[in-house]
Amino acid sequence: MPAPFAFDNTFAAQMDGFFLPAQAAPFPEPKLALLNEPLAQSLGLDVEQLRTEGAGIFSGQSLPEGATPLAQFYAGHQFGGFSPQLGDGRALLLGEFLDPAGQRYDLQLKGSGPTEFSRGGDGKASLGPMLREYVISEGMHALGIPTTRSLAVVTTGEPVYREEPLPGAVLARIAASHLRVGTFAFFASRQDIAGTRKLMDYTIARHYPDLATIPNPAVGLLNAVVDAQAELIAQWMMVGFIHGVMNTDNVALSGETIDYGPCAFMDRYDPGTVYSSIDRQGRYAYGNQPGIGQWNLARFAETLLPLLDDDDDTAMNHAKEALQAFGLRYQAAWTRGMRAKLGIIEAQDEDDVLAKDLLEIFEAQKLDYTTTMRSLSSIARGEAPRAGLARANAFEGWSARWLARLDAEPNGRSAAADRMDAVNPIYIPRNHLVESALDAAVGGDLGPVQDLLEAITHPYEVQPGSDRFAEPAPDAFDDGFQTFCGT
Ligand code: AMP
Ligand code: MG
Repeated sequence: MPAPFAFDNTFAAQMDGFFLPAQAAPFPEPKLALLNEPLAQSLGLDVEQLRTEGAGIFSGQSLPEGATPLAQFYAGHQFGGFSPQLGDGRALLLGEFLDPAGQRYDLQLKGSGPTEFSRGGDGKASLGPMLREYVISEGMHALGIPTTRSLAVVTTGEPVYREEPLPGAVLARIAASHLRVGTFAFFASRQDIAGTRKLMDYTIARHYPDLATIPNPAVGLLNAVVDAQAELIAQWMMVGFIHGVMNTDNVALSGETIDYGPCAFMDRYDPGTVYSSIDRQGRYAYGNQPGIGQWNLARFAETLLPLLDDDDDTAMNHAKEALQAFGLRYQAAWTRGMRAKLGIIEAQDEDDVLAKDLLEIFEAQKLDYTTTMRSLSSIARGEAPRAGLARANAFEGWSARWLARLDAEPNGRSAAADRMDAVNPIYIPRNHLVESALDAAVGGDLGPVQDLLEAITHPYEVQPGSDRFAEPAPDAFDDGFQTFCGT
């Protein structure tokens, strides 16, 4: 049989000193729990081969030809405090491969056993959290949001011990790369300027190749990462996604969403929403995400300072300008996204006010964000607003303003309604659905996970018989809901 992946491992070949060789722990009985066949197909992989060999490959038991398994160095600001050495403590980079379009991906195993960076942890993962990453990352992709993707989940046949014994599992994921703000922080915090420069050159070659030849590539890279993060976080805000642990080791330089731990989708609209059990101060609350994004980019800018300019003041000015640009870029992306959600094409200055006024109504009435947004297109089609909106005194005035805008659009309200249905999802990975599907899976039944995946990977199309996937959780569920890091 041909090798399953045509590996071409640039990181292993070029970045000596940025990783340590590593290998997977032995596992007694690896079994393929989920294989993402549509993804495998789009990557040009042999689906049949992965069905038969996937359990061994994705648990790290049989090393595919050409793999160079390694654990990467990185540091990170975690909840504001700097940890100078984190690194891949429960992950293994098997290598890189190209898809038929020439796009390069990392293939990484998560939960594959301890490495030099495990700091006393077991390096392993349990089935629930690995399925959680699979489901939510695939949901995010279907929503059109840049993200790492999940190729497979393998159960290992051995328990992992958290508060209780849980079935162990490994997630195989692909990413544009696993380079993070924290990767730069690792080398910069050791005053390793040559190392930081080498990492910069590698990052540029891999993600922003056009910058290689501009006069100041370091400034170019900073601005490119700022732009990518501003666009990404604005997209999270559009769908009510709360990452939950926006530490700088979880900020990918590619601009992909990475590391689905305690993440969750907001039900009722409230900027203060926090689900993560470890986020006691609400640092990573829904409404704080753009501000935290900017804070994380300030940490990135700091790592680049010696490369931005030889003169300290000039370097600092470059950093300040880039961070200011984050605010502008984020605001523009947010307004652009909201305009689309409201069916508006022709921009006007007060579009952000129109959107914010609507969200104020959502918040005051404690309305479910996703279903209420989706319901607006029915109003554009002439239906009465649903009870939650109708009960808000401010809604009548708001809706008159909004409908007047749609009337001025080419083809008016009905065309706007169709556009809205293409960007306001019906099905998102709602917390209560994810939890109950994962509970069933841990109990041995993957059916509910499959059903949920079917709904959320087609988020905009009405799927007959799938009403329960569209409904908000009962209030009592949302009030007490907490997510965990899954380590
Ligand atoms: P994460 O919360 O997945 O972003 O991980 C933060 C850091 O903790 C990374 O350095 C991980 O490699 C490490 N880590 C998380 N879980 C484990 C584990 N079970 N064993 C060893 N290291 C871990
Ligand atoms: Mg992480």
